[in-house]
Amino acid sequence: MPLPDTPSPVELAAPDLEPYRAGNTGIPYVTTFDSGRAGPHVLVNALTHGNELCGAIALEHLFRRGVRPGAGKLTLSFANVEAYRRFDPANPGMSRFVDEDFNRLWDAAVLDGPRRSAELTRARALRALLDSADLLLDLHSMQLASAPLVLAGLVDKSVALARRVGVPAVIVRDAGHAAGRRMRDYGAFADPASPKAALLVECGQHWERHTAEIAIETTYRFLAASGVLEERLDPAPPQRVIDVTEAVTIASERFRFTQEFCGLEVIPAAGTLIARDDHREVRTPYDDCVLIMPSRRLARGQTAVRLGRYAD
Ligand SMILES: [Zn+2]
Repeated sequence: MPLPDTPSPVELAAPDLEPYRAGNTGIPYVTTFDSGRAGPHVLVNALTHGNELCGAIALEHLFRRGVRPGAGKLTLSFANVEAYRRFDPANPGMSRFVDEDFNRLWDAAVLDGPRRSAELTRARALRALLDSADLLLDLHSMQLASAPLVLAGLVDKSVALARRVGVPAVIVRDAGHAAGRRMRDYGAFADPASPKAALLVECGQHWERHTAEIAIETTYRFLAASGVLEERLDPAPPQRVIDVTEAVTIASERFRFTQEFCGLEVIPAAGTLIARDDHREVRTPYDDCVLIMPSRRLARGQTAVRLGRYAD
């Protein structure tokens, strides 16, 4: 079972996905629009985590507006629908996943392996789609209300793509989690020699109204940057890159932060105590250390926080 997130008011309504169940690809909840013209295959994915409503709202917006690619192909997919079906506004954190985190399964050894779970079944069903996509936008949201972030992985091509998209203003270059590989790091997306690229965008706090607006804006900008949609968009404010140097992985059941961090705090002095993990002290390794996405789900083996510094 997922651990509960911190209670926050739920300002967003969970869309009804029934109209999108059949799709047109043979995979439930996956729809592809083909322009019939040359261009990339762009995949916009929602609900990697079942409690993160903003992506589902952004896809519903595209469906309702009848957005179609002018070049290439556009696929809209709702990933962990089984978890999402359990979404309950009275207890909104509990639908992140059914059996395990869908976003920790994305390497060949796990996908080809013998393990079974609701999430692995869905990941295996979506794998060929991921293999066929040239560009992936994976829409997420966060427990805490920090500014929106794009998680670009470690390859330069993703940072370049994030800059072409132009939003969010904070680009995080990171390796992911000890607990398993993310979809954005799957296969060719993480191969520097491949032109395929993926972005994971954290649009804001899970259930704030503004988070859905960020998801919609980011999606339009992503489609414009990828060349499937001709959109005239206002220039976005300048972006900054944070290089993540380490993820703090929880080792005990007694991990506690020393303060209520919410993300993107800059800790001036190296050696500042930020958490205790049973008897282990977690201290910032350098001056001006940035805390990225501190978690409230403090379970052993999970990432508690990522540490980084501004690259520019
Ligand atoms: Zn997420």
